This record gives sequence, structure tokens and C-alpha cells, in this order.
Amino acid sequence: MTSSSCAAQVSPHIKVLERGWLSSNSVVLRGTAGVAVVDTGYALHAEQTVDLVKAACGGLPLTQVVNTHLHSDHCGGNAALQAAFPDTETWIPSRSADAVRHWNAEALTYRATGQQCPRFAFTHLLQADTSVQWADQVWDIYAAPGHDPDAVMLFEPQTATLISADALWHDGFGVLFPLLHHDHSAIDAARHTLQTIAQLQPKVVIPGHGPPFNDVQGALARANERLKFIAAHPDKHRLHAARVLIKFHLMQVKRLQMDTLARWVRDTPYLQLLAQDMLGTSYPDATAWQEWLAGLLDDLAHKQAIELTEGWVTDLT
Ligand SMILES: [Zn+2]
Repeated sequence: MTSSSCAAQVSPHIKVLERGWLSSNSVVLRGTAGVAVVDTGYALHAEQTVDLVKAACGGLPLTQVVNTHLHSDHCGGNAALQAAFPDTETWIPSRSADAVRHWNAEALTYRATGQQCPRFAFTHLLQADTSVQWADQVWDIYAAPGHDPDAVMLFEPQTATLISADALWHDGFGVLFPLLHHDHSAIDAARHTLQTIAQLQPKVVIPGHGPPFNDVQGALARANERLKFIAAHPDKHRLHAARVLIKFHLMQVKRLQMDTLARWVRDTPYLQLLAQDMLGTSYPDATAWQEWLAGLLDDLAHKQAIELTEGWVTDLT
């Protein structure tokens, strides 16, 4: 499956491939003898990722595949790129090494989120507070916990370019997943990550989703405000997370019957956890489930993210 794509040239050697929200951005770093790509989108778009990366390589070999973190929408194209470019190196955050080595779908969150990611292997690890050279460019690696405790972000000092992934978007940041387990340290971790970004003073930020942006001060201010809100209302963030997970699923399947969606929701561990939490019981009955899901879908419909019609749910991306 393909998604409409567009490309933004951040500098002569850095290009961003953007494709809606289901697949993260892929950042193409071009050198004289090879090309590196940071983040590879969702599995559903893997074939398209290979085509786009091949085109961006323009005859040069793909020498590195790099992942800021291992959420399914950031590394779903890894396996296909490894098959298309067998000599490529694959770099992942060091804290995720064991989970990938043993393909622990639990630790990698693919089971909990009900998302898919084809298995891949890695060759190199990204260590925070070190630098690496890919495609003639030197990138500094920073820990970026909050959204994902194991995530990193990448900074290129020459052009002051930051690849922030889901730690900072133009308007906010990704769900603070540890909060789903009531791990409130994620809020401090996210605040610390935003402070690191402020200290780096990037001129351009390439987020995991959405176009690159220059108004870094504005984005940081919005993100800090959001963090304050989450700290004051963690339950609302958990509710937001439930809507995000449902919306992500709907972006993949586009349209499905309400009963099928209800079954998927009940079978998805993170959503089970959130429902139990919000309904205040480990064994919500069918009516409680139905009402909880109906409330979430009404919210999504109200935001015009989905459409509800006679037993069917349609994604409006
Ligand atoms: Zn993420």
C-alpha cells in the first residue's frame, strides 16, 4: 500500500520524506559515496519506503538504516530495506538491543498496541552522548526519554539540524507511553528532553511526523504547556492515548464494522489496561466496554478524525 508522499529539502544533503501520520518521516542523509536513512515508516508502506529510498539514493548504495526508536511506525520498513540493500548497516538505540535480539514483541510494544512490525536485525548501537558519522555527516546522539524511554534524537551541529522524532513535534509530542502504566517519571523525563533541545538551539527541527520547522522556541513553548497539562491531568492523557491507538488502527484498515473494531479493542492489551483503569474494574462487563468505546469514538468523530455510520467506522485521514 502507498500513501501520498512529499519531500522537503532541509539542506543540500538532508531530505525529509513525509507520508501522512501512519508512517513516520524518513530522513535521507546523502554523502558522496553512500546514503543513510533515519526511520523507515510503518510496515504497510514498506514497499513504498523501499521505492522512495531507492529513488533518493540515485544510484548510490544505502549504507545505513538508523532508528530513533522502535515504535512500529518508525521501523516498519527496516526488514524490507535490509532485503533490498543486503550490505546496509542497521543502527538502533542501545537500550533496545536485547528486545530486538530476541524479538520480544512485548517489550517492543507491538503486542500491547496491536500493531505490526516485521522482524529485523541490527548491526550497530546508538549510544547517547557519542557521535557517529554517516554519509559524510557527523551526528551527535542524545537520549530522548518521555514518549519512549529508549528513544534517542540526533543533532548535526554544522547546520544545527535536530531529528527529534516523537520527542518534539511542531505542536506537541507523542503519547507518553510509560504513563499508561502509571509511570509518572515519564513527565520529568520528557521535560528533561525538552530542556536538552532548548540547550542545543537547533535552527531546524525534523519531527517524526509533520514537516520540518524553524520556529523551535514556539514548539518548545507549546510542548512545555502540554506537559504541564499532562502533569495536572494524567487521566486525560491516558484517554488521549486510547484515542490515538484506535485512530492508528483505523488509519491502517480505513473502514470496518463496529463489532470488528470492538473485538480488536478488547483484544489489544494497552486498550484493555486503559479500559480497566478508567472503568475502575479488572473485568468490565459488555455494556461498560461498549459505552467506553462509544465515548472514545464520539470524541474522534467530533474531531472529524473518523466518521460513524450505521454500524461502520470510517477513517477520515
Ligand atoms: Zn513513537
